[in-house]
Amino acid sequence: MTQLYPMQEKYGHFYGGEWHAPVNGRYFDEYNPSTGAKLASFARGDEDDVNLAVQSAVEGYKAWYALDGATRGRTLMKLAQLLRDNKEALAYWESVDTGKPLAIATHEVLGCATTIEYTAGMADKIFGTVIPDGNNSLSFTTREPYGVTAHITPWNGPLTIASRGLASALAAGNSMVIKVAEHTNITTLELARLCMEAGMPAGVVNVVTGYGNEAGSALVNHPDVRKIAFTGSVQTGQNIMKAAAERIVPVLLELGGKSPNIVFEDADLQAAAIASLRGFVLNSGQVCAAGTRLLAQRSIVDELAATIGTAAKQVKIGDGLDNPTIGPVISEKQLQRIQHYIQVGQDEGAELVCGGNRLTDGAYANGFFVEPTVFKNVSNAMTIAREEIFGPVLSIIPFDTEEEAIALANETEFGLVSAVWTTNIHRALRVAKRIEAGQVYINDYLPRGSESRPFGGYKKSGIGREGGVDGIYEFTQLKSIVIK
Ligand code: NAD
Repeated sequence: MTQLYPMQEKYGHFYGGEWHAPVNGRYFDEYNPSTGAKLASFARGDEDDVNLAVQSAVEGYKAWYALDGATRGRTLMKLAQLLRDNKEALAYWESVDTGKPLAIATHEVLGCATTIEYTAGMADKIFGTVIPDGNNSLSFTTREPYGVTAHITPWNGPLTIASRGLASALAAGNSMVIKVAEHTNITTLELARLCMEAGMPAGVVNVVTGYGNEAGSALVNHPDVRKIAFTGSVQTGQNIMKAAAERIVPVLLELGGKSPNIVFEDADLQAAAIASLRGFVLNSGQVCAAGTRLLAQRSIVDELAATIGTAAKQVKIGDGLDNPTIGPVISEKQLQRIQHYIQVGQDEGAELVCGGNRLTDGAYANGFFVEPTVFKNVSNAMTIAREEIFGPVLSIIPFDTEEEAIALANETEFGLVSAVWTTNIHRALRVAKRIEAGQVYINDYLPRGSESRPFGGYKKSGIGREGGVDGIYEFTQLKSIVIK
């Protein structure tokens, strides 16, 4: 295949402002999930590479925090502009790496620029407070960076998640080492390279590639890492938290979800159906905030299921570069996991409205494509309603009363995102208040403007918040200063 924006054949790590071959000389290959074609080889990092990258970050931190906030902000603004200037190439690489549609990848690159711009403006506005402590003294607080922060990112939105962490950590004056997910390395490496072009001191942003149990684990356990931000599965989040507990290092965890869209019979059903469809097929369902449980009032279940089912059958599935509605899922392993859940749904008695199949004919033959799948008459106790599938699978669950809807929404170990669809504002606010989730949308689902809002979960969906002003504060620690 001729690449529109060619890749190098082999990529090293990027730290200290330069490319570095892996100390152990080992590489691993990465493939395009739309076609199965090899894209490039990437350094398979381990403890030796991590030690060097963290050493660079220690130096980078000194140089970065020595700058005043306004200078850091201006540098971040330059980085955001570079993302905008390079949006075609970055979106292309993100698309071939993850399989996501090119238009969505482009939208995401621009979203990364917006997030960085938002926090850049905050870099010189990280205030403390003056405290009336009642003594004959002046007490005040300052917010200081941690130093070297570690960022372990997943494959579903590599550039988006790396940029979100970068924006907050760097605005607050930290340096960072990123360990990218093994399936999707290129755009994060390019981001680090663009940081140098923007004029950041060497070592402020460093990227190590490789496997979780090698490079990832070495990074989490490094004694100079002072804060860990992780996005990914609950299981890995738990392992990272345990490792962090050994050194009492704070963690920011962005984990899974089983997010409910609650639709009452007085809602705008057309709008609810469109948003619900988008909510579970976006990125082929590989989104922690995917709306995978549709709680529908019993009188409207059939109408909603029919509308969503009809629209789901029209979803264009294809190679990300051809700009379909959805691309493939990330890997054969992920596809098999999704197919397993679809089978379990049928075995446990859920009614299949549409989808359920892997696509293998013609252009689909070498990729990992699965149809959007809708189940109705699902009970909240079924496996497909309880576990995060991370694929385009929707469970429609009926309810009768407001009280029951709230109970069902909260009957999950997760609490990331939720939505309430109703034209009754009193009900909307009553329900929003009682849902145990980090975000509640009313008559909408994942609208624009995410850079300004804190995002994160209740319960097993995570700890801490990214985005907005609160997201920057996550990368600061408070100091009280008292003057007698
Ligand atoms: P994962 O959680 O294992 O991987 C995410 C990141 O953590 C990767 O960079 C990986 O290399 C790293 N990692 C793995 N083990 C590590 C360790 N011991 N120490 C440090 N870093 C480590 O996720 P996965 O295996 O790629 O996907 C499995 C499932 O996780 C998916 O099916 C999905 O349900 C879920 N997932 C959720 C999200 C999300 O955004 N919430 C993202 C990706 C995957």
